[in-house]
Formats: sequence, structure tokens, C-alpha cells
Amino acid sequence: MLSSSITRRAFSSAIKTITPLTSKKHPHLKRGPYKKVDAQDINVFKKLLPEQQQVVTEDTDVYNLDFFNLYRGSSNKFNQIRSFDATSGIVVVDAGVILQNLDQHLEPHGYTVPLDLGAKGSCQIGGNVSTNAGGLRLMRFGNLHGNVLGLEVVLPDGTILNSLATPLRKDNTGYDLKQLFIGAEGTLGIVTGVALLTPKKARATNVAMVAVDSFEHIQQAYASARDELSEILSAFEFWDHDSVQLVQKTMLSDQIYPLNSSSSPYYALLETQGSREDHDMQKLESYLEKNMTNGVIQDGVLAQDASQVNALWQWREKIPEAITRSGTAMTYDVAMDIRLFPRMVQDVKTKFPPGKSQYSNILGFGHIGDGNLHIMANMEGFDQHGQEAFDDYIFKWAIEHQGSISAEHGIGIHKVDYMTQCKNPVQLALMRKIKANFDKHSIMNPYKVIPENNGV
Ligand SMILES: Cc1cc2nc3c(=O)[nH]c(=O)nc-3n(C[C@H](O)[C@H](O)[C@H](O)COP(=O)(O)OP(=O)(O)OC[C@H]3O[C@@H](n4cnc5c(N)ncnc54)[C@H](O)[C@@H]3O)c2cc1C
Repeated sequence: MLSSSITRRAFSSAIKTITPLTSKKHPHLKRGPYKKVDAQDINVFKKLLPEQQQVVTEDTDVYNLDFFNLYRGSSNKFNQIRSFDATSGIVVVDAGVILQNLDQHLEPHGYTVPLDLGAKGSCQIGGNVSTNAGGLRLMRFGNLHGNVLGLEVVLPDGTILNSLATPLRKDNTGYDLKQLFIGAEGTLGIVTGVALLTPKKARATNVAMVAVDSFEHIQQAYASARDELSEILSAFEFWDHDSVQLVQKTMLSDQIYPLNSSSSPYYALLETQGSREDHDMQKLESYLEKNMTNGVIQDGVLAQDASQVNALWQWREKIPEAITRSGTAMTYDVAMDIRLFPRMVQDVKTKFPPGKSQYSNILGFGHIGDGNLHIMANMEGFDQHGQEAFDDYIFKWAIEHQGSISAEHGIGIHKVDYMTQCKNPVQLALMRKIKANFDKHSIMNPYKVIPENNGV
């Protein structure tokens, strides 16, 4: 039965069938020698925890299904903001605080969170830290390895590792242990508290959307943005023509595309964040004028107020949701030299011709400023072999071109079999040693991130 809470998290009407349990989707995985939770175990927890901290199964359903309806696995009472220092911008929170709620809490103090992503309304700080989420403003604020100043982590043996008491920006006293847990996907311990450095919210945010007639021009527009807008440039995103078509059809059919033409091969969104609206606007205007005069940009539009800023951003932010609404979603997140982006998307389309195979809506978009390409597609029904063939092609393509198979979404179970191809034996051996040291009984998120040791 589809519970109302599950539908809410995973985009309401979009989802007709809840994805099978991971054990069904990955039948080759043999369950380890783990005990099943029984009534006796639950009673122990009931004795340990105050009643308001106890969660029953239905309360956790909503957190057991990922946004794309691809995984069903398994917290949500850790949702307190513990402290905020309005001088340093350091906030200490429970790991279960929703990203958007934290941003709303910071706003009246003139601060913001240093990451922003489409899942902000449902993802939690602990999840962001554990996946080292990047998002739309990584270009400006850097990633969580720099912005997380302290963590509270419960280790598998029950020890609590706590570095929240001294959340310092500079601290070179030995190993920076918290870094191990950022991006560890819960394989080394459970993050329960996070100290985060938050930046001042910019007084002025300006956004331009542009159309270009080739990917070379996207690169030139990006290079020019770094020259002309330098310190105020906070995001440079791109998407292709097919992305516009799908977003318009599935989500924004009542809206007119903001640019004169919706048939250019590529579009980009540039965002600036600074302290003086008129000054930043002038800079953006002269950037546009220069690049339209020299033929790099074919068409461009500038948001005149906050609602237009949001209206432009939605054409980029709604792409993942449009894919989710259009059938079984396949989502990829690779990093590589940006000059390779169009070749990869074209090669994927040649291999799996949309409309002539079981695949459709093959889209390319992402974060130019971070060298991060997202390829997303739909598949007819759910076909395990069809998914594996697509995965294999994309992951091998990225590895062969010295790219990464995961720029910001992590490894999980989906990509674990490719770790032997993208990490060398020394790296893998060290990762296994670290895991074994922390988690002797392999109870933390087993089967994920680190591949089984078959002599590789
Ligand atoms: C629409 C959409 C857009 C997105 N856009 C971006 C983007 O632009 N950039 C980007 O980087 N990512 C993006 N993501 C992915 C996003 O980074 C992750 O979904 C999010 O950061 C994970 O947080 P969560 O609370 O949802 O974690 P979950 O999905 O619940 O968990 C993710 C992983 O972290 C582990 N984990 C969760 N909480 C803890 C904890 N407290 N302690 C230890 N381990 C834990 C889980 O076991 C799991 O392995 C997007 C996702 C969606 C759905």
C-alpha cells in the first residue's frame, strides 16, 4: 500500500509503483550473518529512549524511499538546531534537520547554507554530509569538506566521536578525523550532529539565462563569465534542448520559455551574488552585451526581481523532477573535462537511440563550473538488464575518459561493482582497512561503497 507520507517525499502523482526492495533488485547480494530485529531488540531500545524519541515503522516509511523512487531502504527525530553564532556564522545542528528548514532559520540573521540542491525540501544535513552533497553553489562556497567544522558521530561500537565543541576554521592538530565521515555514505558511523560554517546571505542575487548555438560557445561564455564577473559569479549551469522540451511538456506547460527561441541546442544560467544590486546588474549587462555582440551568446534575458530569479532557475531545477514524472528514471552524475560533455551525451544517444529503443528522454545538463555532468533518461517499465546495460556504458565511458562515476551522488549499491575500475589497488586496500578498523562486524550500511574483496 502506498502511504501518503511516501507519496509526499517522492513527488506525489509522479509515482505509480513503489520500487521493489533493494534485496529484490539486487538478488546476487547474499545477506550477511546479520540478526533480524525482533521484539526483544525493540524493547531494549524502548527502555533506552524516552517515548518522544521512539519511532514506529510508519513514521520512517517516508525516509525509506529515495526521491527518484530507485531505492527503498530505512531517522527523523534529530531535528533540533542546537546553536547559532551570528558573529562567526557557525551553526550546530542535529543531523536530521532538513536543509531548507536550516536555511529558513538562518535567513533572519542574514546567513544562508553553503549548499543548495533540488532535494532541499526533504534532504537532511546528516544525509548531505554523508553523501558530500555538492549542489548548485559549490562553485562559490566549495564543498562540505571545507564547510563542515565539526561532527558528532556514533561509531559502530557505540563510541561517540565528538568534534562539535571546538568548531574551528583552522585546526592543524593531527588527523582531521571528521573528513572520513564526509561522503562515507554511513559506512563508518552514524552522523548525529554537524557544525557548519555558513556564509552571509548575499544582498543581491542576479540571474541571466542565455541561449547558445554550440557547446563551444557554452565554454566560451563560461570563460568570459569568470573574467567579467569573477568574484560575484556564484553559479554557471547548463542544459540541452531536450531538457527544455521535457520540462515544458511535463511541468511548465502553462509557461512561455523565457527566451525567444526554445530550439537552441544549449542554454546556460548564470547567477551572481554580491553586495550591490545595481553594480552587479551593470556587470551582468555588460557581460551579456559583449558576448551577444561577438556572437558567443545568441539570446539572453536578465531577471528583474526575485520572482523572475526563481522563474528562471526553475527551468534548470525542474529537470530531475521532469524525468521522475516521465517514467522509470535513470540518473547519472559524472565528472570530467567539460569539453567531453557533449561527446558523452551524443555517444549515449547513439548507443541507445531514444524512441527506437526502450529508452527515451536522454538529457544532458549540469554544473559547468564544477565539471559535473548529469545524464538522465527514462526507461520503459523496469528492466534490470536494460538498466545494467545503460549503467555499464556510462560508467565505462567516464572511467575510460579519466572522469569520475560519481561527482556528487555517491556510490551506494548502484556503482559499487565499478569501484575496482575507478580506484587503484592501494586506494582500495586502504579503504578496506579503514572500514575494518571502524566497523569490525560490517554492520554499517553493508554492501555499499566498498566492493567485496575477491582478490582485487
Ligand atoms: C531532486 C534532487 C536533486 C539533487 N540535486 C543534487 C545536487 O545538485 N547536488 C548533489 O550533490 N546532490 C544532489 N542530489 C542528491 C542529494 O545530495 C542527496 O539526495 C542528499 O544530499 C542526501 O540527503 P538525504 O537526507 O536525502 O539522505 P538519504 O538519501 O536518506 O541518505 C543518503 C546516504 O547517506 C546515508 N546517511 C543519511 N543520513 C545519515 C547519517 N545521519 N549518518 C550517516 N549516514 C547517513 C544513508 O545511509 C545513505 O547512504 C539531489 C537529489 C535530488 C532528489
